[in-house]
Amino acid sequence: MTAAGKRVSGTGGKEGGKGARRAPFVHPGPDPSNPLHIQPIQFVGSFPDPMVRVEPALPEIAFIGRSNVGKSSLLNALVGRPGLARVSASPGKTTLLNFYRMPRLYLVDLPGYGFARASKSARAGYRRLVTAYLRERPALAGIVWLLDIRHQPSADDLEMQALLIESGRPVLGVLTKADKLTRSGIAPRVRELTEALGLQQDQIQLTSSRSSMGIAELATSIVAAAGGGNP
Ligand code: GDP
Repeated sequence: MTAAGKRVSGTGGKEGGKGARRAPFVHPGPDPSNPLHIQPIQFVGSFPDPMVRVEPALPEIAFIGRSNVGKSSLLNALVGRPGLARVSASPGKTTLLNFYRMPRLYLVDLPGYGFARASKSARAGYRRLVTAYLRERPALAGIVWLLDIRHQPSADDLEMQALLIESGRPVLGVLTKADKLTRSGIAPRVRELTEALGLQQDQIQLTSSRSSMGIAELATSIVAAAGGGNP
């Protein structure tokens, strides 16, 4: 006699038990360990002027990285609003700063750099905007610098590194798309990139917007950089 002949029907096999049946998918919903998920957020506007005045004045946390690094996806995951920043937006908006207000801080989405097709004058305009913002913005409390974990820093990334060092601002290096590597592939890449970027280990945060890895930790660091307390 085979084991199959003894099976009792109606309990859902291996997953069966005393509880109700599991839903076919899990809705992500707000993450209670992410301090940015539980606060309201509002789009303030897109501005070409690095010295634009926003009211009220609050600490600003800026996000910067190469285009396609996953910045829009990360912003959406951080605040738990899938449609907030546009994913894979076209190169059109490369010279605008996007401000999002939370009760006690602004998230500032700086334009992505490194468009292969950008003209010389577009590159110069970009550089002027970002240099002025990073150097002179009084409210800038910290910079979240995004890098794709799979790639070595590009020439544009190294140019940004020089600008970040020169600005003297606190920087957190965020490695994106960690879900694209195997578990054993992640640690050596983190070591290589930490060194190549000239950052300390505690200045690196591993993330994946797809799997939510590191997102709540990043949110906590952002709140701390903006002065602690509620976001
Ligand atoms: P942005 O240009 O820096 O704003 O990058 P986007 O957020 O538009 O993302 C660029 C591409 O990378 C899109 O196709 C995203 O779906 C993809 N992407 C972004 N984040 C992740 C991630 O964490 N994991 C994976 N596998 N893909 C991602």
